[in-house]
Amino acid sequence: MQSGFTIRVGELWYNFFAMNVKKFVKPNIYSLRAYQAKEIPCKVKLDANESPYGFADGYKVLKSVKTNRYPDPEAKTLKRLLAQEWGIRPANILQGNGSDELIYYLITAFGGPVLYPVPTFSMYGIIAQALGEKGIGIPLDTDFDLDGDRMASAIRKEKPKLVFLSSPNNPTGNCFSSEKMLKIIESTSSKSLVVVDEAYHPFASEKGFLPMRGDYRDLVIMRTLSKIGLAGLRVGFLIASEEIIEQVNKVRLPFNLNALSQTMAVEIMKHKALLRQHIRAIVKEREKVFAELSNVEGVAPYPSEANFILFRVEDAERVYQGLLGEGVLVRHMKGVVEGCLRVTIGTPEENRIFLKALKVVVRSDRKRVK
Ligand code: PMP
Repeated sequence: MQSGFTIRVGELWYNFFAMNVKKFVKPNIYSLRAYQAKEIPCKVKLDANESPYGFADGYKVLKSVKTNRYPDPEAKTLKRLLAQEWGIRPANILQGNGSDELIYYLITAFGGPVLYPVPTFSMYGIIAQALGEKGIGIPLDTDFDLDGDRMASAIRKEKPKLVFLSSPNNPTGNCFSSEKMLKIIESTSSKSLVVVDEAYHPFASEKGFLPMRGDYRDLVIMRTLSKIGLAGLRVGFLIASEEIIEQVNKVRLPFNLNALSQTMAVEIMKHKALLRQHIRAIVKEREKVFAELSNVEGVAPYPSEANFILFRVEDAERVYQGLLGEGVLVRHMKGVVEGCLRVTIGTPEENRIFLKALKVVVRSDRKRVK
């Protein structure tokens, strides 16, 4: 009797909220579109810029985790290992539940406007809007490089608190010109924080901005373990001056990096040779896939320094659906880079299946058009 009544009250509340939620939710949240991370069934998953190589043995170390205890709130062991690797001090590193969370913390701590080139990683804009801050997207030039003049004048006019530069950039795959990036960092000095998001740095030929950190107090660098085999663990980092880290740390939730992720990430940092081997294999495959894509009539790939390739096709929707019909999932860039798809580099076997399916789909699509 009692429980029936409770359920009914629950239902009433549910219906009431479903009808009225618009009245309660903040307008910036109501108009926000959630990040699209749909699970689409497929045989070959090449849509999310993950590594095809995981760490099957990693679970063994998890036996040592005391599940009844909170994790180390400072992730000390992991930060010490990374500090050694990067030649910096642990006090210059802040850990995140993926770098997504660190974008959230940065915008929470410093506010907006938040400026970024477009197309780029969508979370800069989504989080800015979620936090009620103004997001400003400045189009890249036709080579997908930064448009120096437009960036400079937008920065002058909008006076952003944060400028996000993803290099290599997602979804275009290229590194931005370092001269243009440096110009932005220098021109915004002591006015804006420039965040160089180096999620795809392990696959790039450029040195990245870590070596320049000492020269620029307002420079923030983001790194993640997601693209090198640990996406499931959610481990990302900020690298910045102690003063910046201190402020961002105030908004960090106390135990944001769970014990399983910390333990496994520490273990994996002890297997650097294996990590490097995986990265080399992906880069080698990327070059092969790029060469093959270039040879397919009706397909135009863009050069990439990341673990994915953006490519243009004549009818993106048909090719996307055709690939899915063959069991291959890639990312449709509709509304982001029209006419393009983005494929993550997989194992040699996965790439072979993708290329074979693509050739079949593109050929039949071209026949249809003729
Ligand atoms: N930055 C860029 C440029 C990305 O593409 C991604 C993931 N797609 C992230 C950050 C987020 O990575 P993480 O898994 O560490 O949250």
